[in-house]
Amino acid sequence: MEQSNSSLHEFHLAPVIAVDSEKCCNCHRCISVCPVKMCNDASGDYVSVDPDLCIGCGACIEACVHGARSGIDDTRAFLEDLKAGKKIVAIVAPAAAVNFKGKDLEFNGWLKSIGVKAVFDVAFGAELTTKSYVEQIKNENPDLMISQPCPALVSFVEIYRPELIKYLAKSDSPMAHTVECIRHFYTEYSDCKIAVISPCFAKKREFDENGRGDYNVTMKNLDEYLRLNEIDLSKFPKTDYDNPPAERAVLYSTPGGLMRTAERFVPGISERTRKIEGQPQVSAYLSGLQKMLASGEKPQCQLVDCLNCGMGCNRGAGTVNHDMTVDQIEAFVEKRSQDRKERWKTQYGGKSALKKLDKTISDYWKPGIYSRTYADRSSFLKNKIKEPTESQLEDIFHSLGKHSKKDLHDCGACGYGSCRQMAIAIFNGVNRRENCHHYVLHVANVAHDNELYETVRNITKQSIKMLEDTKGDVASLVSVTKDMSQSVSSGSSAIQEMLGNINSINSIIETNFRIVAELEKATQTGRTNLADVTNLVGEIEAESRTLMEMSKMVAQISGQTNMLAMNAAIEAAHAGQYGAGFSVVADEIRKLAEDSGKEARQIGEVLKKIKGMIDNAYSKTGIANKEFETVVSLAGKVKDQELEVKSAMSEQNEGNNRLLDDLAQMQDGTHAVEAAAGKVSTSTDTVIKEISDIGKR
Ligand code: SF4
Ligand code: SF4
Ligand code: SF4
Repeated sequence: MEQSNSSLHEFHLAPVIAVDSEKCCNCHRCISVCPVKMCNDASGDYVSVDPDLCIGCGACIEACVHGARSGIDDTRAFLEDLKAGKKIVAIVAPAAAVNFKGKDLEFNGWLKSIGVKAVFDVAFGAELTTKSYVEQIKNENPDLMISQPCPALVSFVEIYRPELIKYLAKSDSPMAHTVECIRHFYTEYSDCKIAVISPCFAKKREFDENGRGDYNVTMKNLDEYLRLNEIDLSKFPKTDYDNPPAERAVLYSTPGGLMRTAERFVPGISERTRKIEGQPQVSAYLSGLQKMLASGEKPQCQLVDCLNCGMGCNRGAGTVNHDMTVDQIEAFVEKRSQDRKERWKTQYGGKSALKKLDKTISDYWKPGIYSRTYADRSSFLKNKIKEPTESQLEDIFHSLGKHSKKDLHDCGACGYGSCRQMAIAIFNGVNRRENCHHYVLHVANVAHDNELYETVRNITKQSIKMLEDTKGDVASLVSVTKDMSQSVSSGSSAIQEMLGNINSINSIIETNFRIVAELEKATQTGRTNLADVTNLVGEIEAESRTLMEMSKMVAQISGQTNMLAMNAAIEAAHAGQYGAGFSVVADEIRKLAEDSGKEARQIGEVLKKIKGMIDNAYSKTGIANKEFETVVSLAGKVKDQELEVKSAMSEQNEGNNRLLDDLAQMQDGTHAVEAAAGKVSTSTDTVIKEISDIGKR
């Protein structure tokens, strides 16, 4: 039987995942959890979803902790149409028992309170589905039959593993069975649209494909509506479903529910059933199955009971019970299952209960009415995602900075499981290099390296320049040190020469000092002698004054004698001859007086001259005395100054000796500096060479 429906090939799949570009921060968690990856387009500023490649599993909704992803359903349209008076019946998935925390019957009461004409339990549709499966197994005994209650897995097979389409069960899902059951057996609702209260956003796809169901109303969005409108379900009457009650098919929302229900129809079928659920296990299993079948290998099972979500539909993307543990969830489901089993037993009694159940199911089952066809949608993938050649992949790897196997880190930061998948995504334009963690790291490192290299280069250049300057400085230092050494050396010679001169001066000063001392002594002696001479001249002057007085007195006596002689002559004349002798004597006396007067005058004249000379000599000795005083004083001063000069020269000598010692030390220092500068110059050459080598690396 042809499983594909060519008319369906052309349809695009309805978007079931919305992305809020404002909230998306490009973290790639969605790609990480996405079982098919390529439906996510991370080539832009945010990660968008291509509906034709998205299987609608909803894994990205929970993974997106930034709230950028949400599911798209028909809750608003359902409520608005209901309000607008459209006739609607509802079918409710078994997951409602968990999601409305055991108030599924009260929920039915609320649905009817808002105008829903009838409420059907999808669990009974699951009973019909199981019968359809069992009928196919009985009639065709297929090698393999893959269950298809999960629209996400159907999309996965249709788009990504079309080789498995022929193994998909030929009958539709429990929801579709429920819808079809209403269409065939509840004709009073034939003018009603059908709202599906579902745990899954992907259900919309199923309805689009099989034409069964009009509104996909997820429990998640309904719960939000109830909360926003403060609707308390416990206030609504428990209202039973309008179709027959299911028995254990209420387990369908749980992994293995199909298997356990089928066991009632075909005991032992569990042993031929592969129960598999949760992503990525289920897609990996189906991929492996396809490979096995392609290689001609037969699988161990006949029936694959598979669900996309790890906790089955009870925790589908369109549910609200994500805070519940698996045991809490299962407790609701198991209780409901036990209740239903009990109800069938008590209502129909013992063994006949199962017969009655079989009959009831058969009453609503007709061959062919629940069949399902599938579309091979792999062209969606093939048209959009091409497989690059190895050389094209290599080019992309190179553009990502991956030049060898060790560069293929497969870190998963881009969201893909491997660098290869990322390269394929880039090749197909659904991702970009900048989303590869290691590429960004590589670029950052290269930028950093370039920056570092530039910095090192600049520092190297500056260092070399500084070192060359230093080398010049060191050379100048060496030269200055040499000059200084020479200067110190010639300074030392000059000082030594000066010291020699100072020593000569010292000895001259010593001699001078001695001479000056002698001079001082001599002048003092001279002064004393001169004082003696002065005293003597003084005494002579006094004596000469006495002689002058005596000379005056002699002149006076001679004058008086002359007078007397003249008088005696006169008397003698008077005395005639008797006075003649006397007159001779008087004359002689007069002559003597005249001679002595004359002599006295001459002596007086001589004495006067002598006195003048003595006065002159006395005055001169006074002057000489004063000048001697000056000479003595000057000699003293000269001596003092000589002393000062001598002491200064002695200090100078000491200073010069110290200077000489310092110069000797300086000489040693300059030699040491010269030697060190020489070493620095050599080391600088080595450092310049090494830094230049670093700069070239
Ligand atoms: S999980 Fe996906 S959609 Fe959500 S923020 Fe991250 S990249 Fe964006
Ligand atoms: S719904 Fe599933 S398939 Fe679609 S983008 Fe999200 S994770 Fe991928
Ligand atoms: S190295 Fe880059 S391309 Fe490879 S898995 Fe990590 S992020 Fe993705």
